[in-house]
Amino acid sequence: MKLLIAASEARPYAKTGGLADVTGALLEEFRRMDIEAYLFLPLYRSVRKRFDLSDTGKEVSVPVGNRRYSGRIFSHGPSTFFLECDDFFDRDDLYGGARGDYQDNAARFIFFDRALLEACRVMALYPDVIHCNDWQTGLVPVYLRELNREGIFRRTATVMTIHNLGYQGLFDGAMFSLTGLPQEWFVPEGIEFYGKVNFLKAGIVSADIVTTVSDTYAGEILTPEFGFGLEGVLKRRARYLYGVRNGIDTSDWDPRNDGHIPARYHASDLSGKAECRRELIRECSLRMGEKDAPLVSMTGRLSMQKGIEILLESVDEILSMGARLVILGEGDSFFQRRIEDLGAAHRGRVYVKVGYDETMAHRIYAGSDILLMPSLYEPCGLSQLIAMRYGTIPVARKIGGLADTIEDYEPLKGCGTGFLFKEYSSSSLTECLKRALCVYVDKRRWKRMITDAMKRDFSWRRSALKYAALYRKAMKMGTGERVS
Ligand code: ADP
Repeated sequence: MKLLIAASEARPYAKTGGLADVTGALLEEFRRMDIEAYLFLPLYRSVRKRFDLSDTGKEVSVPVGNRRYSGRIFSHGPSTFFLECDDFFDRDDLYGGARGDYQDNAARFIFFDRALLEACRVMALYPDVIHCNDWQTGLVPVYLRELNREGIFRRTATVMTIHNLGYQGLFDGAMFSLTGLPQEWFVPEGIEFYGKVNFLKAGIVSADIVTTVSDTYAGEILTPEFGFGLEGVLKRRARYLYGVRNGIDTSDWDPRNDGHIPARYHASDLSGKAECRRELIRECSLRMGEKDAPLVSMTGRLSMQKGIEILLESVDEILSMGARLVILGEGDSFFQRRIEDLGAAHRGRVYVKVGYDETMAHRIYAGSDILLMPSLYEPCGLSQLIAMRYGTIPVARKIGGLADTIEDYEPLKGCGTGFLFKEYSSSSLTECLKRALCVYVDKRRWKRMITDAMKRDFSWRRSALKYAALYRKAMKMGTGERVS
């Protein structure tokens, strides 16, 4: 099978969040399987600076509105390709900076989606399946049908994965003219969304198969609470909607062999974890009060989605339980300021680092006792998977991928890999943390939780096999069965 993964980010090249972890790891897994997998990414400035790329000598040229944009195709290794267009991608950030999203994001990804198919044509690379990811590649399945006059893609199936329905690529209706698509696409059954252009909707209505990143989230997005207005569209495609849970790259995230952390450890010898904890306390200048105060942490984007609001409301109560708090994140400037103020107000008890710091993230996962994930919604979530692999127990909301990957502690059986709460409120969060701390003080039971969590298999293998089965299903779907 010849597979092309189309994405706006992938590790190790470009990353702003979990999407990059997913595409990067999935590609590696497919390469280990019998799948000929190619990855296409925009050629961002940061990629050009950090990687030694080869010029394929091939060029693409596609229209965006009335202008034509050209760029060369670069490669890194035999199967990763980058589409150059300096007007659009030679910038400091992927999607925008401190002052908000780039104004021309619609044009940037119209270019990328069209250029991707043009690149296939000039390279004579005809994939069996194109796997699109998030709104940035939502137009690919639409172009595949519209621009396929030569019929070269007649056997190419498409799979669209929604990593986060909260980001849809919603642009002013006037942007539709930039797409070059026939007017009949700008209707509610097509890519129009209340007068605007919606890139993610384009992918949902036109891909052969739609997936999202956990089973629970696949059900949740059909409801008004989690559907972000697309629940109706998704319901119409429910027959072709599947949940495939994310995994983590278990060689990148491995406490037995992690160069970022001060001591390495495994489930049957946790002495290294104790050292990581001591080192984290020292690094964050935390005053522990009681010797055994629990070390609670949070690593992630500072956005509404991650439940920062209820975390901020809970801080006094968390500290009154004797816990110490470490927060690493970047995101909304409003939350960044509030979190920084928090660190200043509780120096020695709360440590805050605003920014993106991979090494620090590893050290936090390894050195903490508990990871908080009070998300408003969570398609899958990777942080809880990483935390469990490092023997750090998640306290999280029972939604989306958190519900699918964390086993709530059962006191009677004495087993579980974390603690879950249902209601989105600070009182539910702190009640749940209290439940966790009751177990934390019982060292024997806590250790069993840690070892159970560390033994869970969150590798990509199973999910990659599931994707491969869906690719085959999409390939089998005749054009008759494909939506029109
Ligand atoms: P998202 O919704 O942002 O994709 P996930 O939990 O799926 O959230 O994945 C987030 C990934 O990004 C994890 O690997 C997490 O450790 C990492 N991450 C998030 N914020 C930071 C940060 N400030 N510094 C380092 N790594 C971070």
